[in-house]
Amino acid sequence: MEDLGIINDGAVALTAGRIVAVGQTSNILDHFNAPETFDATGKTVCPGFIDAHTHFVFAGSREKELEMKIKGASYLEILQSGGGILSTVRDTRAASKDELIRICKNRAKNLLIHGTTTIEAKSGYGLDLETEVKLLEVIKEMNRLGPLTLVPTFLGAHAIPSEFQGRTREYVDLLCSAWLPIIAEQHLAVFCDVFCEKGVFEIDDSRKILLTGKRFGLLPRIHADELYSLGGAELAAEVGAVSADHLLYISPSGLQQMKRAGVLATLLPAAPLTLMVDKYADARSFISHQIPVALGSDLCPSCWLENEQLLIALACYKLKMTPAEALMAATINAAHSIKMQHEIGSLEEGKRADIAILNIPDYRILGYRLGANMVDTVVKSGRIVVRDGALA
Ligand code: ZN
Repeated sequence: MEDLGIINDGAVALTAGRIVAVGQTSNILDHFNAPETFDATGKTVCPGFIDAHTHFVFAGSREKELEMKIKGASYLEILQSGGGILSTVRDTRAASKDELIRICKNRAKNLLIHGTTTIEAKSGYGLDLETEVKLLEVIKEMNRLGPLTLVPTFLGAHAIPSEFQGRTREYVDLLCSAWLPIIAEQHLAVFCDVFCEKGVFEIDDSRKILLTGKRFGLLPRIHADELYSLGGAELAAEVGAVSADHLLYISPSGLQQMKRAGVLATLLPAAPLTLMVDKYADARSFISHQIPVALGSDLCPSCWLENEQLLIALACYKLKMTPAEALMAATINAAHSIKMQHEIGSLEEGKRADIAILNIPDYRILGYRLGANMVDTVVKSGRIVVRDGALA
């Protein structure tokens, strides 16, 4: 994960939204007669960032929970005070599709100006069929509007809705027998995800949901071993998940099985940071076991991170990844995590021209500086969509 293939004094030739050549500037200029050129002297040109894990579509915000967290309130206490995920479910159910699209347009703008050109986007704040379909339709509409690309994931198993409290099995049965066939038939999602956690959807329920989704053509991915060592990583290997995400409490056998089954690890360092738990995924152990690591923001109301450059820095400072590894995890490995590796994630001939041009002379500054926007220009499918850090 350390070999970025850097070209000093490099150039990229684009046509019709695709990369046609990458190489030394003199070479590219000799071989191509471009009607339009863009001078990036002194800057760093890299693939547009990819965010492999977001809960992109939600209404409302939960800033008052920050003070509760600071004062030591537990997740359960926040939930009991009417906050937490179920309060976002209430806000999101109440929001119209147009209102959600308006919110998402603004959110997409924030991602784009920080260099993110593609994201994985989950449903999961509906927890009823009507709202889950509404959220996936919002994702579809956002894709139509562009320029941000969204890869949709159905996460009906994000939490147990209040109307099913104490009846998890019934909720899982409904999701599998009635909802998944509809989501699949309407081509609303590429992936099926589950929040596999103690007291939420445990291993048997998670297996049932992921295998049912798979039968309907939805690729499995999973929130695994975030708060407890439950066997989520082992389940990811068993069902052939593309990615297992979080993995703070992965067991040694889970690690071996992920490696054997070729499951990628998507790590989310902003999640423990905002949960205020001082425990992070052991990125070094995944890397030393040759398990590819991708990065995700976990963008959601409790972890509201829209700047992927900060995510890269968190991967360096909190996961002990090198800047090269973190950049790899935020581009080509993130593309693998969402099954888009043939299309995006690197500057290679034939790939879509999704490019971030950074106002820094050395890529390592990405992992080093915290929170500033170092993106100067963003090219999406060959078109400049951000110029001087603002939407073009
Ligand atoms: Zn998540």
